[in-house]
Amino acid sequence: MRVTEHVHAIKIPFKLMISPGVLMNRLVYAYPIYGKRIGLIDSGVAASHNIIFDYLRQTGRSPKEIATLVLTHSHPDHIGGAYEVVAGSGCQVAAHIEDKPWIEDIESQFRARPVLNFHSLVENSVKVDVVLQDDGDLELGEGQILKVLHTPGHSKGSISLFFPEDGALFTGDALPKWGGLPIYEDVLASLKSLRKFQKIEGIKVLFTSWDEPRFEDIYGLINQGAKYIQHIHELVCSERAKSPSADAVELGARVLQALGFPETALSPMVVNSIKAHLKVSDRKDLLAP
Ligand SMILES: [Zn+2]
Repeated sequence: MRVTEHVHAIKIPFKLMISPGVLMNRLVYAYPIYGKRIGLIDSGVAASHNIIFDYLRQTGRSPKEIATLVLTHSHPDHIGGAYEVVAGSGCQVAAHIEDKPWIEDIESQFRARPVLNFHSLVENSVKVDVVLQDDGDLELGEGQILKVLHTPGHSKGSISLFFPEDGALFTGDALPKWGGLPIYEDVLASLKSLRKFQKIEGIKVLFTSWDEPRFEDIYGLINQGAKYIQHIHELVCSERAKSPSADAVELGARVLQALGFPETALSPMVVNSIKAHLKVSDRKDLLAP
């Protein structure tokens, strides 16, 4: 689907195993930016190159025109298609230095962050050619620029990208979804990243990795993401006040129940998010300056 003059959105469905034998339907987007060459933001899961390459061909472009693949972060649903995208296009890969080790060595990621069906989502590691460290510009070729923003919290090396030409902001997974599973490593860093989005002027379209492109009330949606983190924080703190000896797994189960999720949704990733809240449980209002 063409969304703006240059940006297209490709929806990629996949199944995430949240507990043994339990698969949850998820989706993730990949975003090609059409210029003289093509810049691609994220690569979906393993085998997504078929969907991406088919889309390019249907719109009169060739996979060989992809010059750069930018990975917003290292998680399997963003890097899973990278190896085949590179193999089929010869493109360079750009990612943040903090997530580079997990992109270049998927087994080290699996050991540290054991998503149950990891190896069906990502089959191969890929080399990062362009190492992003700070905020700055990433040239897509022929004068097209992506502004890189380091927006950690969901992962240490999460980046977001602003494409000023079309007013397009790509947030990867840095902006949490209201009602979504809480998945982040660092609560305060997440909120700081959301404040960074609020300071960007001229956002016309919001491209998260998990939702339709949004044209309306973008700054309101960013604010809603911050309020959701605060809402979960309050749940974690109140459940802990009720049972001070409960560990992060028990608290996670209660918080998910309060949020309306089934018991099976309690993955190690969610437990890590609960631990991240507990680290700052001395603070009640995380949104206060
Ligand atoms: Zn992620």
